[in-house]
Amino acid sequence: MSDSLRFSVTEIREAGGLCASLEVEPALIFPEPVPNAALAGPVAAELEFSVGGNRILLQLRISGSWKTNCSRCLAEHRVDFAASAEETYPLDQDSVDVGEEVRQAALLEVPQRSLCRADCKGLCPQCGKDLNAEPCGCVVKPPSPFAALKKLKGS
Ligand SMILES: [Zn+2]
Ligand SMILES: [Zn+2]
Repeated sequence: MSDSLRFSVTEIREAGGLCASLEVEPALIFPEPVPNAALAGPVAAELEFSVGGNRILLQLRISGSWKTNCSRCLAEHRVDFAASAEETYPLDQDSVDVGEEVRQAALLEVPQRSLCRADCKGLCPQCGKDLNAEPCGCVVKPPSPFAALKKLKGS
């Protein structure tokens, strides 16, 4: 993890707290690719350290956007996210590294299912054409609700 995500405990302690704004490059927190998603750019991170008892409390806010593929037509699109998290660290160490917290918070925001637009028509199940561009002309028979009913009855 890079030094840019590392903060001196002495500095935080002497000041009684610390605020920082960072632009975290994707490669810093995700050296390995994330399955089914990639960061569209740096993650903006707002850090607020405070000292309480023998701990340092970090309040973290992040925002950015994931590039992912549409669940219906596979088109790449961006999904913006904003999230917050809290973490505490012991005071008896030289520095705190917030990289893992930024990473975890961003990972939780990876879209599991996302559409390029609300009314995405998806791909034709027969010819695979993107139906958002134009209809493909395949005749897709809708499954008859009675067919399933017949099966159930065993007739
Ligand atoms: Zn789509
Ligand atoms: Zn088709």
